[in-house]
Amino acid sequence: MSTARKLRVAIVGAGASGIMSVIKMREAGIDDITVFEKAASLGGTWRDNRYPGLSCDVPSHLYRYSFEPNPDWSHVCSPGPEILSYLKQVVEKHDVARHIQFSSEVTKAEFNAGKWTIETTQGPQGAFDAVLVAVGVLHHPVYPDIPGLDSFAGPAFHTSRWDDSVSLKGKRVGIIGTGSTATQITGAVIGEVANLSLFQRTAQWVLPLPNTPIPEEEKADYRANPGKLDAEYGRLAKEFNSNFAAAVVGANDEAYQGMVMACQSNLDRVKDPELKAKLTPDYKVGCKRMIMSDIFYEAVQQPNAEVVTDKITAIEPGGVRTADGRLHELDVLVLATGFDTHRFVRPMNVIGREGRRLDEIWSGGNEGYLGVTVPDLPNWFMIGGPNSPIGNFSWLMTAENQFNYAMKLIDKLRSGNVTEISPKVEAVRAFNAAVKAKMPDTIWATGCNSWYVDKNGHVASWPWTYEKFEADMAEPVLDHYEMA
Ligand code: NAP
Repeated sequence: MSTARKLRVAIVGAGASGIMSVIKMREAGIDDITVFEKAASLGGTWRDNRYPGLSCDVPSHLYRYSFEPNPDWSHVCSPGPEILSYLKQVVEKHDVARHIQFSSEVTKAEFNAGKWTIETTQGPQGAFDAVLVAVGVLHHPVYPDIPGLDSFAGPAFHTSRWDDSVSLKGKRVGIIGTGSTATQITGAVIGEVANLSLFQRTAQWVLPLPNTPIPEEEKADYRANPGKLDAEYGRLAKEFNSNFAAAVVGANDEAYQGMVMACQSNLDRVKDPELKAKLTPDYKVGCKRMIMSDIFYEAVQQPNAEVVTDKITAIEPGGVRTADGRLHELDVLVLATGFDTHRFVRPMNVIGREGRRLDEIWSGGNEGYLGVTVPDLPNWFMIGGPNSPIGNFSWLMTAENQFNYAMKLIDKLRSGNVTEISPKVEAVRAFNAAVKAKMPDTIWATGCNSWYVDKNGHVASWPWTYEKFEADMAEPVLDHYEMA
């Protein structure tokens, strides 16, 4: 590989993907890197989310950087604060912080003559040869459009904007939403609140994944034998990818049937027929992102829990009013209403080749190439761009694969012969046509509403197996790129 040109690279976002990108980019020999982070600290989703019960639902030994195995994970799926502290330790060890400009949100990025000129809330930042976008997917909170939301008299906050000053102990708490976030909070707080009203619009399938502590002897064994840690990673990756991830894209029916049975028998733990009926989804297992919890059903069967399925008509100072006319009186209202996963970098003003705006390029829907590159945005590389594998793999595995792919294209810019690289329109069209043709085989396209589905009704995930993703990421097909 020729490194004739010294590149100046901008990374947007100091979350898990941005941190990894700095480390791997430096390892590849690029040191002139600035990370623009809009918040005052790092960690992305693990910084933003601090709600009670927060943990990852991907096994910890899989949810780690390939280059930083961690023998010390406390649980099969570790708590959020532990993941944030892992990220901080990695940052410290690899001296990443010197690259990060905090409280500097990118407001504009404009491409001209082989360079991206960047402006942030701190002012103009100059020109960069490449931009790596690592802003995450579950990032922009969705606030429900319910009349009177602002009129609630007590504390009300989105789960990713948790108000740490509010104690839930002995309070009447309402949670709107029943996704992964709401179910984790429910399990964590049911023992301390006076009562909990869980406002459910759509029932969820729940896979009873036990989250047990990892014994000290096992951790000591991993410390003493790093090979065992690698083997555990390999075992989990194989199991996860060939079972769960393959099942949801229609590539492993036996595993899918196993998931269906596990979810159904978990639901059978709900004894009261009326409650069970409320909690029974009317769509296929896995269509929405599955909930992983072996404590949720137990929590909602507690005497101080109520699952409310009547439509919310208004929020009033005293609580939540439902269509049956009842006012559910509350002290605290938690909005577990999820994220807009289709906004990506917006509201950033991105102006590509010949003045083409990202909003214009994506006016008919977000389309890119293999989740990494976008036509008319040369030298612009996304971690988790449109149709990346979201939700069903370890995000850190996906991010590293996409980084490695992007780095091979960035190497072309380093060679000195190329100053602009972007995917050919035909390649992008062919990829998106293949996505659309394959999507009906997936479980996400079987007729439910979920955060995978965009405003046009298109499922915005990767419809193939993880093995295919890794193969596609292994080496860019240069014929699919235009270079100048
Ligand atoms: P989500 O899965 O999108 O759930 C949002 C919930 O809010 C849904 O139940 C939705 O109902 C409800 N909702 C939205 N607007 C509403 C309204 N106006 N009125 C009533 N209900 C409304 O969001 P999430 O729970 O934050 O999870 C998002 C993703 O983050 C997860 O799927 C997962 O990938 C990730 N996550 C992972 C973990 C983990 O690792 N354990 C934890 C949390 C989150 P409908 O279903 O009817 O739309």
